[in-house]
Amino acid sequence: MKRLRLIDGVPELRVRKVKESGIKVAHLVVQCGCCANKIEIYPSGLGDQPGLLEIGGVEGSIRNWRAILLPLLKLGSLRRGK
Ligand SMILES: [Zn+2]
Repeated sequence: MKRLRLIDGVPELRVRKVKESGIKVAHLVVQCGCCANKIEIYPSGLGDQPGLLEIGGVEGSIRNWRAILLPLLKLGSLRRGK
């Protein structure tokens, strides 16, 4: 069994790039480091419009995602004292 790499005490997320094929556009699959839970991230959205990002089936503008996620990511690093 492959040894889990820990980052800040939790298993590292597993990220897989999926190349475009047939009807599927290129996207990322981010999987939990300890189980089979995963989300798919489509950088350009399903409609291939620039400036869109689909995370876990929820599509929004990149600006909208940034406003939601950046404060959470900054808060996480503050809590860890970095
Ligand atoms: Zn898990």
